[in-house]
Amino acid sequence: MTLGSISPSPCSDLCNFVRERTGQNVLDCYQCGKCSAGCPAGYVMDLGPRQVMRAIQLGLKEELLASKTIWLCVSCQTCSARCPANIDIARVMESLRWLAAVEKTTPAEKEIEVFHRAFLGVVKRFGRAQELLLAAWYNLLSKNPLANISLLPGMLTRGKISFLPARVKGGVEVKRIFDKVKAIERG
Ligand code: SF4
Ligand code: SF4
Repeated sequence: MTLGSISPSPCSDLCNFVRERTGQNVLDCYQCGKCSAGCPAGYVMDLGPRQVMRAIQLGLKEELLASKTIWLCVSCQTCSARCPANIDIARVMESLRWLAAVEKTTPAEKEIEVFHRAFLGVVKRFGRAQELLLAAWYNLLSKNPLANISLLPGMLTRGKISFLPARVKGGVEVKRIFDKVKAIERG
């Protein structure tokens, strides 16, 4: 099935999901391509942002959740800034990552999905990304505990990372934000 071979319904279930989750109306996309033209990660994506918008209009949920694109998007918001229809495409991408995680879809970019989990886990516990802990947690989650270990001495001696976690003001509030979001999602 190709993206161009199907006529869009007024609003697919996926399109409704995106609207409810992000407030963005993907049906406003008229396929001008300005988002794809400016995307710095477009060259490694399997679907450009414009194609993602079209696929949502068509309700191609499985194809989207299995795509590399949703994990390769770096949330730089270039597409959102360029869109003449004022669609916040970066936010739409984020909603697709969330849906893929909730539905436990096997990620096309496993390492990136693991990095997302490690990053959020460290920020939740320590209020910010603590580089050494983040690297260690990522290695553990990816079942490769000694990955890149040879880089550690050089980074420590050059002051790029520290053994001591940085002190964070408001770490408790950050944890409360995570708890609140979880409660909203459950509700
Ligand atoms: S820039 Fe906006 S209107 Fe143009 S293709 Fe991308 S999402 Fe659609
Ligand atoms: S937010 Fe994602 S899709 Fe949009 S331009 Fe940046 S990398 Fe590309």
